[in-house]
Amino acid sequence: MGGLIAGKGFPLSDFAGYKGSGIGMSIDRERTRRAYLNGQWIATDRQIEIVNPATAQVFARVCAIDREHMKTALDAAEAAFPSWRGQTAKERGELLHRAADRLKERRDEIARTITLENGKPLAQSKGEVDMSEDHLRWFAGEARRGSGRTVPHHAPGKRHLVVKTPIGVVGAIAPWNFPLVLAVRKIAPAMAAGCPVILKPASQTPLCAIALAECLESAGVPPGVFQLAIGQAAMIGEALLTNPICRKISFTGSTKVGKDLLRGAADSVKPLSLELGGHAPLMVFEDCDLDRAVQQTLIAKFRNTGQSCIAANRIYVQNTIYREFLGRFVGAVASLRAGPGLEEGVDVGPLINQQALDGALAQIEDAANHGGRILTGGRRLAGSPGYFLEPTVIEGMDDGALCMTEETFAPVAPVTRFETEEEVIGRANRSSYGLSAYAMTRDLGRIFRLSEQIEAGTLGINDGAPTVSQAPFGGVKQSGWGRELGSEGLEAFLETKHVSIGGI
Ligand code: NAP
Repeated sequence: MGGLIAGKGFPLSDFAGYKGSGIGMSIDRERTRRAYLNGQWIATDRQIEIVNPATAQVFARVCAIDREHMKTALDAAEAAFPSWRGQTAKERGELLHRAADRLKERRDEIARTITLENGKPLAQSKGEVDMSEDHLRWFAGEARRGSGRTVPHHAPGKRHLVVKTPIGVVGAIAPWNFPLVLAVRKIAPAMAAGCPVILKPASQTPLCAIALAECLESAGVPPGVFQLAIGQAAMIGEALLTNPICRKISFTGSTKVGKDLLRGAADSVKPLSLELGGHAPLMVFEDCDLDRAVQQTLIAKFRNTGQSCIAANRIYVQNTIYREFLGRFVGAVASLRAGPGLEEGVDVGPLINQQALDGALAQIEDAANHGGRILTGGRRLAGSPGYFLEPTVIEGMDDGALCMTEETFAPVAPVTRFETEEEVIGRANRSSYGLSAYAMTRDLGRIFRLSEQIEAGTLGINDGAPTVSQAPFGGVKQSGWGRELGSEGLEAFLETKHVSIGGI
């Protein structure tokens, strides 16, 4: 574990004060952000460079941990478990509330950091901080509701209790697209349940995870209860899978890596929660409120530059209103402003990296080869070194086009027609994914039919942003296993034990 220097991390404001392009910004090695393990900020030999996707320039460095550090982290988490689970649920909840207070105090600065490392428009980053604070407060309350039950006895002189206990040390793996809130969605319920957590943030976006560690530290988190594993993903994943100290992995990311983790968990039968990819259908029915339908479709598609697991991926519009909806929608998309997320008035930021940009351009080309017509956008944004794609609408490609079968993760909206409700439900469900779906309709009967027949974990009716702390979130089919948020979010980190008492 060479090169360890115990000490304090640099304040995040070092980066939050950084403005605009970052071109030519020198990297001060002394300012490399440190790793947070066992209550200490440590420097390591290896560093990860953090790129601002709006400029394609490195603007920060973060210390990466190695195998030895991982072992230290797991040992520290194991050591911290007895006293953390021994705290009352009220005490654990109060700590989460204090962390939420710190997050709120630092809202603007942490939002700037999210925009710098992820690219999303600043207002959306502020929304992400707000939702993270709300998740912390929700699970601070849920900590006190993680109760078991008694069940009727079967024989005289016996009693039966159902007891809930924390599952143990948790490995939490988060992606880059909502780097703060998706981490909080795991660590808040795990800590509320009494579990120590080791968080592995995405390598592109570790800075707001560091900010979260600072908030938890100043809220008084005991050493080993929350730790940060920033570094090589396969090494960290293997350590979490193979070390028996880790009792559960909660993963959000691609279906491909989710499947790798599933295979890796087979030997030890380690429980996994998996929040994986999506390919959401959005259905616009003829009875909808058109203004609302356009507005909510814009949100469902272009929020976070289309890089959301619940982003509308395939837009189906009923024949009778097809032209009218499309005209309004294309007008609205054409008026979206793409640019650096820190600039005022920007609606759509850059994609996360060159690979994401290339993938989106390949889907656009493929759609054109499948009969699609580009109605607006379709190209890389001119004059910027960042990974920007013009907000794009394509119509008329067939259902075999990649954008109709694969997750897009870009500001690309493919629009196509349908005739009947039955037909569109069939086409919506024809996917290996099932994370979310959307419908624009005011027909109550249809709302019930869709609620029962659409294969997805979340259905937004006239609602392009359906996620809330108090409702469960997760997928069916290859979109994952388990649920986050709601009361189910806490349940994911609790074991259920039956205690049978005789001789009463
Ligand atoms: P990803 O490549 O699967 O990475 C996600 C996280 O897993 C990152 O922290 C990554 O680390 C880590 N990772 C990669 N390989 C690993 C391994 N072998 N063992 C352990 N960890 C490993 O996904 P992404 O590209 O960041 O995120 C986009 C995907 O996430 C999309 O498919 C999206 O739909 C999905 N997503 C799902 C939800 C949901 O709630 N269902 C929410 C958001 C995103 P490195 O960064 O170091 O590689």
